[in-house]
Amino acid sequence: MSEFYDLGKEYESNVFNDKVMKKKLPPAVYASLTKSVKTMSPIDPSIADTVANAMKEWAISKGATHYTHWFQPMTGYTAEKHESFVNFKGERELVLEFSGKELVKGEPDASSFPTGGVRETYEARGYTAWDPTSPAFVKGHVLYIPTAFCSYSGEALDKKTPLLRSMQAIDKQGKRILKLFGSKPDEGIVTNCGAEQEYFLIDESMYEDRPDLIYSGRTLFGSAPPKGQDLDDHYFGVIKPRVAEFMQDLDETLWSLGIASKTRHNEVAPAQHEIASIYETANRATDHNQLIMETLKSVAPRHGLVCLTNEKPFAGVNGSGKHCNWSIGTTKGANLLDPGKTPAQNARFLLFLSAVIKAVDEHQDLLRVSVATAQNDHRLGKAEAPPAIISIFLGEELTDILESIKTGVNPVSKKRVSMDIGVDVLPHFPKDTTDRNRTSPFAFTGNKFEFRMVGSSLSIAGPLFTLNTIVADALCEFANRLEKAKDFNKEIAKIVKETIVKHERIIFNGNNYAAEWVVEAKKRGLLNLKTTTDALPYFTKKENIALFERHGVLSKTEIESREELLLEAYVKILHIEALSMLEIAHRGIVPAVLDYSSNVAEAAAKKKKVSARLGTGLEADLLAKLSKLGDKLGKDIDALEKALADAGGNTTLKLAQYYGKKVIGAMNALRETADALELLVDGNYWPLPSYGEILYSVK
Ligand code: ADP
Ligand code: MG
Repeated sequence: MSEFYDLGKEYESNVFNDKVMKKKLPPAVYASLTKSVKTMSPIDPSIADTVANAMKEWAISKGATHYTHWFQPMTGYTAEKHESFVNFKGERELVLEFSGKELVKGEPDASSFPTGGVRETYEARGYTAWDPTSPAFVKGHVLYIPTAFCSYSGEALDKKTPLLRSMQAIDKQGKRILKLFGSKPDEGIVTNCGAEQEYFLIDESMYEDRPDLIYSGRTLFGSAPPKGQDLDDHYFGVIKPRVAEFMQDLDETLWSLGIASKTRHNEVAPAQHEIASIYETANRATDHNQLIMETLKSVAPRHGLVCLTNEKPFAGVNGSGKHCNWSIGTTKGANLLDPGKTPAQNARFLLFLSAVIKAVDEHQDLLRVSVATAQNDHRLGKAEAPPAIISIFLGEELTDILESIKTGVNPVSKKRVSMDIGVDVLPHFPKDTTDRNRTSPFAFTGNKFEFRMVGSSLSIAGPLFTLNTIVADALCEFANRLEKAKDFNKEIAKIVKETIVKHERIIFNGNNYAAEWVVEAKKRGLLNLKTTTDALPYFTKKENIALFERHGVLSKTEIESREELLLEAYVKILHIEALSMLEIAHRGIVPAVLDYSSNVAEAAAKKKKVSARLGTGLEADLLAKLSKLGDKLGKDIDALEKALADAGGNTTLKLAQYYGKKVIGAMNALRETADALELLVDGNYWPLPSYGEILYSVK
């Protein structure tokens, strides 16, 4: 990697971006396409053939032989089926073809993708529809076309469709507000996101010896290493040369795909790192975050490494999250969560801020639902990530201003004044560069919110469409009032004040990791949905179905099927983890304990043979401990097997609750015993590399 790398030239070199389109498309086609993309309106079918042909020519010049409709089914991963450009004309004369029809619509067999019941109700077939708002790109020898995935009757079967719908919803409601502030009708609303992605890197040889990592993405056994993150020496520490090379390779791959990778550093835990790319529209950010996760995994083996994106690869060591920095802006580039410099901008800021405060307080349940997975349950509320309680951090300055709006007391002079929102100019908040409060699940950081509960392996589509929808709903309510108001500024002041009075319980600037916060939050009446099975049933609450339907983001059928799918996934993950534990216990740990015990017994017997006077206290003590724990191990294995055999429930929720309690309980017990044995058994006998060996495997 010593050769000169021309970042300016390489950036987006594999993307069918605006510059390429402008060059390759006739001006009228280019204008029509870009207009549709900007306004998120349907593509004129008559231009599809021309666009497809230009895309094909360009892709072939980049070495592509195939194209694929790239989509994001409910698995949380991406899916692709490759079709080559090969075709025959007349007497088997080779032509390389890609038609407008093939670009716009694909028909993958939907029957093998999770649908949560939608398939039974409707049709088995699904189709993919080109999403021109996210650019096509070439990866390897394939032209990737981002698409949405739906059932034949139009139900969303993927993560992208509701996100696109939510972007339309917030655009529609936000525009009503913008219009009242005097903006032109062509100025729309966009939501932006920049995701900070955490991950672990370990040596490939360690991974190969850990079936638990292979099957479930996290270690299911392993006692804590003597040195963990106690010395706080890893965060922002010097990056090891091998990791640095990996990071460079990663960045170069991402840049070529048009992903503006910006920041890289070591994270808190040993072997943990972070990558952040520059924010972009929620839709592109979602596609790109999926690509980042895939690229992390595909680049690592080139360096003899394996990348773990699981939320909790190592017990007792910080897990990985994904901070979703989210803001609302306009299509002209204004950031509506930026306080601004003029009274009108201030008023607009306070109004949008109020919408977020109201939305987050009223829909704590949905935000919690949007990050609920079996893996994320290991992080939330474990003093390493925000608790499962949703609250907003605003910082003292902004909280003081809101307080003064509420009480009418000037924060500086402490005198009673009437705060006129349309007139008083707010201070420009310094960007929270020091990240003063890292414990809040939803923190205001100067001109954006940082949603920190998202798990590292989760698609950000869910959290983003939830945020967009709940805020669209609040904006809709505000717009209804403001459109009718006689005095616009007075009505804004009223809305802002009312919001603070009604929703101030959601604002918390203290330490969210502290035990006192749990007590305080309960007093405030905030929800504390500790586990996935506590949270998921809220998805299908009547008012939540009504909310998503009101904004055309998800229908009742879609929500019900999604809840079902998420519960099924929860059960499957735990089931795989439990089976993996049993396999490792039977095939590795039990034989290791038996072999080692026998070795110790033999050693004692041999000693006695030499001389009856030689002491064998060490051997006897060790054998006693091994026997005691060994007996317990056998019982724990039986108990986990029984827990799995007894699993049942007449609904998926009941089954999930059973797994959450009984199976997890039995897994924890088995792990505790095995981890205690790990510390007694000779490392040469133990079947798994230790935490210490794995976490410090990359030199
Ligand atoms: P901080 O240190 O305050 O977290 P950074 O500049 O490191 O801020 O940004 C973290 C992430 O937030 C990056 O992905 C960045 O692109 C993104 N970001 C910055 N501004 C915005 C914004 N207005 N909307 C959404 N994301 C943003
Ligand atoms: Mg940050």
